[in-house]
This record gives sequence, C-alpha cells and structure tokens, in this order.
Amino acid sequence: MYVNLKVHDLSFTYQSLPVLSGVNFEVKKGDVLGIIGPNGSGKSTLLKNINALLKPLKGSVMLEGDNIFKMSRQKIAQSMAVVPQDTSIGFNFSVYEAVMMGRVPHLGRFQKEGEDDRTVVKESMEVTNCWSFKDRSVMELSGGERQRVILARALAQEPEIILLDEPTAFLDISYQTEIFDLIKELNIGKNLTVIAVLHDLNLAAQYCDHLILLNKGEIYKIGTPDEVITVDNIQEVYGTKVIISKHPVSKTPYVSLLPRIQDKFVKAISRKIHIIGGGGSASSLMEELFFQGMQLTAGVLNVGDKDWETAKNLGIGCTEELPFSFLSGEKHGENLEMIKNSDSVILTNTPFGRGNLKNLEAALFAVEKNFPVYIYEGFDVRLRDYTGGEAADIFQKLKDKGAREIANKSELLAIIKDKND
Ligand code: ADP
Ligand code: MG
Repeated sequence: MYVNLKVHDLSFTYQSLPVLSGVNFEVKKGDVLGIIGPNGSGKSTLLKNINALLKPLKGSVMLEGDNIFKMSRQKIAQSMAVVPQDTSIGFNFSVYEAVMMGRVPHLGRFQKEGEDDRTVVKESMEVTNCWSFKDRSVMELSGGERQRVILARALAQEPEIILLDEPTAFLDISYQTEIFDLIKELNIGKNLTVIAVLHDLNLAAQYCDHLILLNKGEIYKIGTPDEVITVDNIQEVYGTKVIISKHPVSKTPYVSLLPRIQDKFVKAISRKIHIIGGGGSASSLMEELFFQGMQLTAGVLNVGDKDWETAKNLGIGCTEELPFSFLSGEKHGENLEMIKNSDSVILTNTPFGRGNLKNLEAALFAVEKNFPVYIYEGFDVRLRDYTGGEAADIFQKLKDKGAREIANKSELLAIIKDKND
C-alpha cells in the first residue's frame, strides 16, 4: 500500500480567523478515512484545502508525490473527485449530461466525448443506480436520486481518491446506508481511496478504516474507530456525556447519548459504589447499576480485561493495571482510596490467583473499615481459588466480618437503594 495523499503541517486562515493549524496525516491507497468533529471544527475547510479549492497559509498537500497547489485544476480532477455538501446542480441538464460532465478533466480542449467516455459514464450510472432515469432533468430529482447522480459524476472522473462532505446529511436512513454501502463497494472493488467528512459518529465507525477527530482546527486524535471513538475523546471534544457499546453486527464502537435527565436522576437516588471484579464477572452488573443512576468506580482491573472494557465504555473511573500483570502495591493503594470514597463495595464472582489476590485484600480492608460489602453471585470460592487456599481463607474472613452474600441482582439493587436513605 503506498501513500496516496499526504497532508503536512497544514494551517489555514479565513481572512483573520484561524481555522486549521498544524494538521498532519497521510492516507494510504485504498483506505477509507473519516473526518469527524463538532460543527465549526474545520472539517469542510480541511477538505477544501485537500482539494486545493482553498490555499493554506502554511504547509502542503501532496498527491502521489506532487504538490497539489502546483497542479492544474484539470490534473487534480483526473485523480481526485469531490462530492460537496451542497449538491445542487444548478442548470437544467439531463441526468446523463450531468454525469458526462465528470469526463471533462479527461477531454482535451474542444474535444468531444467518445465511445470510451460513454462507456465510463454508463458504468458509473449503473453502479449508482441512476441509469434508469438518465433522461430526466436533474431539477426534478429527489434528494437521494440527486446524491446518486453527483456520485455517478464523481465516479465518471475515474478518480483515485474521492472526497465527500457529509454526503448523506440530508438523506433519510435508508439512503444513508445505500450511499455508504455503495462507497464501500467501490472502495473494495476498485481500491478507491475515500476521504469523507461525517457528522454521524456511528456511520463513521462502521464504514471507515481510520478516523480523524478534529477539535477547533487541530487533530485531537487519529487512529482506528476503536482508538478514536472513546468515551473520553468524545466527552472532551463534543462536551457531552456518551456511553459506548458495540454495534451488534459490525462490532464497531456505537455511541449513545445520555439524556440530561440522567443527571437529575443521579442526584436523587445515586449511591457511590465501588466494584471489585474481573474477567467479565462484573460487566452486566456495572451496566445495570449504571443505568440505575449509580456512581460507580471499579478496580483493580487489568487493561484489556472484559470488565475493564465495560468500565471504559460506560465512562466509569477505574484503577487499572497493565495487561496480565500482578496488581502492584501502588495500584492496590489507589483501589483502597476509591473504596474510601464509596458508600459500599461489591465483590463479584471472579477467580483469584496470586496476580489479583490483592483485590480480595481490598474487600477485606473495606469490611474492616465498616463499609457495607456485598459478595455478589459468589459461588463456591474453593472452585475459583488458584492460590492454594489463601483466597478461600480471606473469603472466610470476609464473611465472618460481615460481608453479605447476595445471589440475585434485584435483591442487591433493593439493598443498595435502601442503604443511606
Ligand atoms: P465544519 O465543516 O467542521 O462544520 P467549517 O470548515 O465549515 O467547519 O468551518 C470552520 C470555521 O470556519 C467556522 O468557524 C466557520 O464559521 C468558519 N468559516 C467557514 N467558511 C468560512 C468562510 N467562507 N469565510 C469565513 N469563515 C468561514
Ligand atoms: Mg462542514
């Protein structure tokens, strides 16, 4: 895979308003890159700089090794096509004529289109499903039809790269997936490089290989959807609370907004609960308690652990240790601090080995300091004790000192809500 496009240290200013600064990234051939960010963060401006419609204050855009600001419009259009945000076509062309305009960059001056051009146009119209209405006027099309015609025109350019600015912003959801499925097909089938500005984070996560998250004209984060669409990044850049789950089919991150009402709800019935879990034993409980409006912390969890992932996706603060590592004294200390700040502690049904034995000690610490400690779904500890009996001993102490065993979720919730009323 070679580099198709390289943006180096790009800055741009409208009159005196700085809009982009120090933007650096590269796009490899065949990549689908999404540009996301709040309104006014500079997404459209960046796209116009890439296409040399706007000239940067500083920096460069290299298209396959050539500086785009030194290329003619025609040369640029031979390898780069644009689907702008405003998709009015303006003149009363037929659909066929509008798509044929895509061939202009490949024609010489005064040269009329030939058989080859007609073939390309027909193919472009067939893949975008607009051949059937080729003789209609572009003025009479619905939003979805017009968008497909613009896309057909862009394809008729036979570009290496296609730039799209919110191509489905005004379309209803069935057209959104239609257009994006089509773009993805072209990407896979023709190895077309795609750079798309998207305001819908879930579409972006689903269709893009990489994402750039713009914040006030700077790249806040660049990477795969999993790396970019995180609770912390979205909260920081958009200033809104979200939770992240996984799309049931594509397994890409799925952003859900939290209604503001949640805040009021939280204040009314919220309890501070610290969860000691691991290995996925606490995940469904964390989700449930979260939706019940509880303020949760968790620890110590190893990075990459299922419970760690759930905590991250819900935006729950947690003490974390390196993947597959023994819990260090330092992290144990942080865990105890979280316990001290909580109203109660829940210990879930996780196996104990030498690596995480400190988590059991943390539960013991809680019970000794008179925090309510609940052992949730705690099936026979001897079956999950890989310490040669040490874990079972601590467990017994926990129970002797008043930790309560609770077998089901509704009972646990009732007790927690009842407490501190
Ligand atoms: P986005 O596409 O992320 O919503 P834009 O690139 O359109 O953001 O705009 C970035 C900033 O530049 C905004 O503050 C916007 O008001 C400003 N801006 C956009 N176009 C112009 C223009 N033609 N002249 C002056 N300022 C502009
Ligand atoms: Mg825009």
